[in-house]
Amino acid sequence: MPAVLEVRDLTKVFHRGSLLARDRIVAVDNVSFQMNRGGIFTLAGESGCGKTTLARMILGFEQPTAGKIIYAQGPEKEKQKVWFSQRIQCIFQNPFETFNPLRKVEGYLFETVRNYGLAKNKTEAKELINSKLEAVGLSYEEVEGRYPSEFSGGQLQRISIARSLLVDPSLLIADEPVSMVDASIRMSIVNLFRRLQDELNMGILYITHDLATAYYLSGQIAIMFRGNIMEMGPVQEVLMHPRHPYTQLLRDSIPEADPAKKWQGRISIAATEQEEYLREGCKFAGRCPHVMEICKQQAPETVDVDGVHVKCHLYLGTQRLAREVRKRTV
Ligand code: SF4
Repeated sequence: MPAVLEVRDLTKVFHRGSLLARDRIVAVDNVSFQMNRGGIFTLAGESGCGKTTLARMILGFEQPTAGKIIYAQGPEKEKQKVWFSQRIQCIFQNPFETFNPLRKVEGYLFETVRNYGLAKNKTEAKELINSKLEAVGLSYEEVEGRYPSEFSGGQLQRISIARSLLVDPSLLIADEPVSMVDASIRMSIVNLFRRLQDELNMGILYITHDLATAYYLSGQIAIMFRGNIMEMGPVQEVLMHPRHPYTQLLRDSIPEADPAKKWQGRISIAATEQEEYLREGCKFAGRCPHVMEICKQQAPETVDVDGVHVKCHLYLGTQRLAREVRKRTV
């Protein structure tokens, strides 16, 4: 399957504070992964883990400090910019912020058709818009003449998705697309992504803190913590048999139906964010139940454990051992 996106050793550094007392925050630290067409890749982690900064770099809103983003083969250089904005589309978290409350929703759809020269006349534009609205379970008649306030959050998110589909994107970046819609319709939007990915053969980068929808939707998953990918691999492996202590904690923090167990082990967020970003060694050392002396001094390398990439000192020995066994048997 051809790669639609490759991120190689991507790093983003921010500086905080005054010139005399400046903190260097590595918001994204040497991150690499590859996405294929027709696949859903999830970037998961708690808020402040670096996933949105990473998405902003992929979208070109933020310049990387180091590393490369390689997009699927586009046309010659001078057309790259148009090609890029057309083929990479984004769905944001809050559908109400995507649309101006004083402007009719259909105006956005016609504007996209006009901007990209997707139709020769209004009739053709209407037909195209209707076909994309139907792809998300709506129709042109349902949208015509109406303002954003006349739709539910779920409907507006569907319209956002329809708008991005107008240009036949090869990559759709969905940044927490269901976190602000009602729980009752969340699954219908998640199912829509799944169906679109099957039917349209595009790559979807799904950014979320919600492991349940990530498990349901994606083929591959990367778990991020304080700018680092801690664990990455097939979603079934990573979430059902988590190797990294952070993935284990994150998975155990999914609320359960049993109220007695609800929120048990839930991770406390934010208070320690800056401290963890500035920490030497493993960023997770302050919360890890398996922390060792080396973890506080040296950042772990990423190792391959049965096809899953894990960034943890606990597994370095496993890889060394495997290397030695391989050497002995050659
Ligand atoms: Fe825990 Fe050490 Fe692994 Fe970090 S490197 S997750 S502190 S065991």
